[in-house]
Amino acid sequence: MFNFSVEKTYGLMRVGRIETVHGSIETPVFMPVGTQGTVKALSPERLKQIGTQIVLGNTSHLYLRPGMETLTRFGGLHQFMRWDSPILTDSGGYQVSSLGQFKAEAEKRLATIVEEGVQFVSHIDGSKHFITPELAIEYQQIIGADIIMAFDEATPDLGKTYTIEAMARTHRWLDRSKSQWLKNKNNQALFGIIQGGNYRELRRQSAEYILARDLPGIAIGGATMGQSIEETAENAGFVMDLIRQTDKPVYFMGVGVSPSHLIGAIKAGADMFDCVAPTKYARCGLLYSGRLVGDKDKPELMRFESIYPKEYLTIEKQEFKNDNRPIDPDCDCPTCRYGYTRGYLHHLFKCRELLYFELATSHNLRMMIRLTEEVRELLG
Ligand SMILES: [Zn+2]
Repeated sequence: MFNFSVEKTYGLMRVGRIETVHGSIETPVFMPVGTQGTVKALSPERLKQIGTQIVLGNTSHLYLRPGMETLTRFGGLHQFMRWDSPILTDSGGYQVSSLGQFKAEAEKRLATIVEEGVQFVSHIDGSKHFITPELAIEYQQIIGADIIMAFDEATPDLGKTYTIEAMARTHRWLDRSKSQWLKNKNNQALFGIIQGGNYRELRRQSAEYILARDLPGIAIGGATMGQSIEETAENAGFVMDLIRQTDKPVYFMGVGVSPSHLIGAIKAGADMFDCVAPTKYARCGLLYSGRLVGDKDKPELMRFESIYPKEYLTIEKQEFKNDNRPIDPDCDCPTCRYGYTRGYLHHLFKCRELLYFELATSHNLRMMIRLTEEVRELLG
């Protein structure tokens, strides 16, 4: 069971709902990244408390650890991590291809891409592995995610010739992914991924190819997709008119590095997005601060306003040592609401105390999730 319905549109922006067997997801939705079967520092209970509707898992990491045998024994990732809401998994394509062509020096590459699939070296113990589109789907079926991704190759900008080659291979891999998915089709929804780098005509070719496969959802991928909001909007803009001829949910991969990036993605037509930045930034002491400013009559003008140029404060700074205010006075995350002060967080961060990671991660993720709730409110 997988269904997507659009409840309201405003230009490219829209409010909708995805139904899965593990519950429904209101869109636009920000999806916290839980690479190894956990969103770092947060329990599933805390994730629910801050409004998380769906989490992301990384197939290549889960394949290496705990491994498919363990996940089979536990009946999939939902049971293993005790998360009963929807899960999305990437196919491992991005993870393994980033070990290859992303590295300029050939001798530093830990992955070799061939037509059949990708050979890569484990970052854990140096062992060699080979993953194919068929295996990527099989692993995602064992993991049991509600939304799974076709195996693809994400490339940095290595010139047009390579981008064409990689895109064509991704298309062939999509067909192999789809056949494998259909062999064992259950309640999982397969999304195809539009590639084509920063080349308009390649993006359009890729979109046409993916859309013709009539899959439950469409993703826009690529190494540059989440880099800057300008690139994200440009890459999406190349293909959005084609995508919107269908009523599929659209997933911008790796997008949402900052609150205004997230707002920009929604304006560009994203229904779903994920980014490691909110959790990673939290662990590095960078805590989002600011608020959504918008008018129901002119939602296209909505923006994120912050007194900090990068939209986060750096908790390690001495100026916060004796600051008895919460991270952000407008924030409703448990950390701010329970009255934890900047001064205390500054102290915990300096001491690398474990509690810091939970308090900081709850705040940054809640900021992103609350923004999507406010946008839905504004558009609704
Ligand atoms: Zn907060």
